[in-house]
Amino acid sequence: MTNFTELTISQLTEGYRKKEFKAVEVTEAYLKRIEEVDSKVKAYLEVCPEIAIFLAKEADKSIEKNEISYLTGIPAGIKDVLCTKGIKTTCASKILENFIPPYDATVIEKLYKEKTVILGKLNMDEFAMGSSTENSAFITTKNPWDLERIPGGSSGGSSASVASRTCAFSLGSDTGGSIRQPASHCGVVGLKPTYGRVSRYGLIAFASSLDQIGPLTKDVRDCAVVMNVIAGQDNRDSTSSTNDVPDFTKFLEEGLDGITVGIPEEYFVSGMDRDVEDGIRKGIEILKEAGAKTVDISLPHSKYAIPTYYIIAPCEASSNLSRFDGVKYGVRAEDYHNLLQMYKETRSKGFGEEVKRRIMLGTYSLSAGYYDAYYKKASQVRTLIKNDFNEAFKKCDIIAAPVAPTPAFKIGEKSNDPIQMYLSDVFTISVNMAGIPALSLPVALSGNGLPIGFQIMANHFQEGKILKSAYNLEKNLQLSLKIPNL
Ligand code: GLN
Repeated sequence: MTNFTELTISQLTEGYRKKEFKAVEVTEAYLKRIEEVDSKVKAYLEVCPEIAIFLAKEADKSIEKNEISYLTGIPAGIKDVLCTKGIKTTCASKILENFIPPYDATVIEKLYKEKTVILGKLNMDEFAMGSSTENSAFITTKNPWDLERIPGGSSGGSSASVASRTCAFSLGSDTGGSIRQPASHCGVVGLKPTYGRVSRYGLIAFASSLDQIGPLTKDVRDCAVVMNVIAGQDNRDSTSSTNDVPDFTKFLEEGLDGITVGIPEEYFVSGMDRDVEDGIRKGIEILKEAGAKTVDISLPHSKYAIPTYYIIAPCEASSNLSRFDGVKYGVRAEDYHNLLQMYKETRSKGFGEEVKRRIMLGTYSLSAGYYDAYYKKASQVRTLIKNDFNEAFKKCDIIAAPVAPTPAFKIGEKSNDPIQMYLSDVFTISVNMAGIPALSLPVALSGNGLPIGFQIMANHFQEGKILKSAYNLEKNLQLSLKIPNL
């Protein structure tokens, strides 16, 4: 009997075309898998079996008529930062504990149009702030490769669900690495598209100038397939780009002749984790064998990326999160005597530690008298970081880098030390500040059997170059990734 939960999107679509099985059967297999393993992994905040079966039946009607599109009948998990009409959307925060959006995010509308099957909503760090998913107000997601370890964050539910085969693909969001880092820690593929490539309408905002929605998938082809559905201009997001959306799968079969891979000296430093370094070097060798050339490059302002990001992101967050005041959305404190006290009680009880820390940092940095010293300065440095990439892409087509400094760390290891947690974003956040696309794909396993991700960056709207490089690497790596029995 076919093990549906092991099949990729492309394999499922092939099966639907040949009428080998039905979307309802596949959906039932996923729901069963969730029942069997998600009590251990805890990727889902909410599973919606009735909705999923209803959607699967709708998909089967289309399949019957041979109306099969990219994601028809494909079971998906959705990060709980994306608004889903009629389905609770909490951002893993107490302040939105009971929030049921009256509308769908644009990407969700696009999935429905395809007759994708939505299985449920996935855990995350509260308001996407974190690198381990330990900041969720509700549950701690485990890494399916080792249940004592974090799955990465903030899209930890999105990576753990794909890795533990409780959805065929998921959507996540990436503000400073939150798709790529969890993808790396869980051994799946994750793409942060170019800023503006995918509409952010209905994505609950963290830092609006950095946020992007993207796919987490079992392989590179699936990543291209999901991009074909979610990319594109949207009148409801003024930052979404009018650039043409190519068929992303078309790039995959192109070879790597003529591709130059930039190796940034700042990302390969002495003292880095041996397993990570070996994995990345191996990946670069394979790209070379597949026809690519390499060139040494420099991104000299990389060392300012963390301090710059941790000014800009909290500033934007403090402004975006001011809407959660007990009046417009979600929960309101019960005990209060006047308006001010109501705000104070609601926000003190509704937000977790990390979110409050960032609201305070952001409010302070934006206050009169400090704005020039912090936010303005950080914005200027951001331009320097962006210029580094502009210079680098004059010499190369893609940049190869690690995703995270180490494989997945233990639950609790960094949760009491915010600075240590922030430092784990060192290789991912420059990409968001420059607005460029980047992908993580599994390249190796560490000595103790944990996945290591390989990061590929490219210039704005060059996802095609990333996808073909990743596809060639994946093909030639032949890495067998089998999560330990759950
Ligand atoms: N870890 C980073 C942070 O905590 C990035 C989060 C994200 O990309 N959403 O801000």
